[in-house]
Amino acid sequence: MNPTKQNTRKWWGWGYVGKSYSIENRPNVWPFLKQKLALTPRKCRIIALDDIELPPPKLTAELLKELTEIYGENNINTSKVTRISHSFGQSYGDVICLRKGNIDHAIDVVVYPRNEEQIQKTIIMASKNRLAIIPYGGGTSVTGNLELRNDESYDGGISMDMRKMNMIQIDNVSQTVTAQAGIFGPALEEAVNAQGLTLGHFPQSFEFSTLGGWLATRSAGQNSTRYGKIEDMLISLRAITPTGIIETKSIPASSTGPSIDQLFVGSEGTLGIISQATLQLQPLSASTEMCGILFKRFLDGVQAVRAMSQAGIVPSVLRISDEPETEATFMFRSQSANPIKRVAEKGGMWFLNQRDYSFQKGSLMILVFEGSPQQVALDKSAALRICKRHRAVSLGNIVGKAWHKERFLLPYLRDVLLDNGVMIDTLETAITWDKINNLYFNVRNAISKAIEKQGMKPLVLTHMSHVYRTGASLYFIFMANQKIDAELEQWQEIKAATIEAILHNGGTLSHHHGVGRDHARWFEDEVGHLGKAFVLASKSYFDPQHILNPENFG
Ligand SMILES: Cc1cc2nc3c(=O)[nH]c(=O)nc-3n(C[C@H](O)[C@H](O)[C@H](O)COP(=O)(O)OP(=O)(O)OC[C@H]3O[C@@H](n4cnc5c(N)ncnc54)[C@H](O)[C@@H]3O)c2cc1C
Repeated sequence: MNPTKQNTRKWWGWGYVGKSYSIENRPNVWPFLKQKLALTPRKCRIIALDDIELPPPKLTAELLKELTEIYGENNINTSKVTRISHSFGQSYGDVICLRKGNIDHAIDVVVYPRNEEQIQKTIIMASKNRLAIIPYGGGTSVTGNLELRNDESYDGGISMDMRKMNMIQIDNVSQTVTAQAGIFGPALEEAVNAQGLTLGHFPQSFEFSTLGGWLATRSAGQNSTRYGKIEDMLISLRAITPTGIIETKSIPASSTGPSIDQLFVGSEGTLGIISQATLQLQPLSASTEMCGILFKRFLDGVQAVRAMSQAGIVPSVLRISDEPETEATFMFRSQSANPIKRVAEKGGMWFLNQRDYSFQKGSLMILVFEGSPQQVALDKSAALRICKRHRAVSLGNIVGKAWHKERFLLPYLRDVLLDNGVMIDTLETAITWDKINNLYFNVRNAISKAIEKQGMKPLVLTHMSHVYRTGASLYFIFMANQKIDAELEQWQEIKAATIEAILHNGGTLSHHHGVGRDHARWFEDEVGHLGKAFVLASKSYFDPQHILNPENFG
């Protein structure tokens, strides 16, 4: 039985089985990585599903029967592949465990609610029988959010997969959408687009993440500079907690005490199951323009970004790569089969080199403008003026279009790299403008040192996206040769050194990935003793027996 066709998604990595990031037409990828990482590619095999030994389920046959009565045969699953795929998210550590079959904890059963009554019944049953419930959206968490690591405290683990709760209603007058939490990004966006509207939320995990997951993790999309983070779009929500049902009012604003909505946003499945939410929409833009811009130095670009945001110029995408990431983007580009295009590209490079610009040493910015044709033209020319003042050159729209085309494809690259023994992971933060340069240098150094200490050559790439008047988010990508048979320890060491450096330099523990179990030990450093005590007290109020996603936040 396979109610959501989830077998067609890889249980060991990103996306659909059979879909991949093709390297064939990217001739520079391996030479570049060999040189930067001193890489000797080796074939890393993925364990066969049959060879994985899962811990036996703890849930008794009677309780399984009770669950089957609540859900019906077609909405409950205990198959091996389903248990495996629901016991992990998509962090590097998760994927390593999956690929190697190192699975020492697993949920027992996956249930697919179709209504709130089933959720309520499951919560009552779990409370009575010491069962843990892990709410599950698209399973794309990268912070260890979906695991039941300390399973000794429970007599069974239930993954509550929300994907069958996916109904949607649009209010054209108020320009809002009310949707059930299990709806996937593309389905939600297509439905509102059909009414000439957009939510404007496009995380890189868009294809496989859900509304409930976005809200529970305070997600940010690639167009957040214009549309905001998911919490900025939220108008109201409904959540089923062990203590009762919380439903907030759909009103544009109010001053009635602390915001209950914002308490549930970012609660990572610990307070209640978000069953539905109402969000604000925006009209679809009449005009969209994409621009590529090349700076001589990343720090010039950073200054230009600050100038733009503080002058009120708001592109929907504002993304600038530092010099190493610009070079990597250039080396990873696909080569056109069309000889005329190849000659044109060479001509373009020659022109840039003559003016002392290059993709090997410069810093690439992508801007996307949306709005009326007049507004787009105004914003674009104002932005280009600022960039020119910071010694940048405009590359036209080709680079922006290429980025846009591949923006949801890039996550598939990780599997290709892992197949060849390359470690790759990402960490992100946000910081105010006054501290951004220091944080950038110090965190890069901390990552490089941590990798070098392991005897490996580091490659650290950084970009800035998600821009605010007061600061911005920085996103670090690091790569190195994998430490054979110590991949997890290698990754944990680098991650810890990076997070320590981020916090030491005044950044936030996470701008949009969340806390989960992986970052829980730094949660108190982020919010303070009282802040953490408040979060845990809220949990004890809404979930007195700690049955909902019990280990997040520590
Ligand atoms: C390749 C890749 C790219 C990514 N890009 C981005 C990005 O651009 N921006 C970004 O913000 N994040 C990104 N992420 C992280 C991840 O996609 C987000 O955290 C996303 O919001 C998770 O959504 P999901 O539906 O997959 O939730 P899941 O991973 O299933 O769950 C995440 C958390 O939310 C809880 N949860 C899920 N549904 C509910 C519900 N209905 N009620 C209560 N709790 C619930 C879960 O218990 C868990 O704690 C990326 C991840 C990957 C692997």
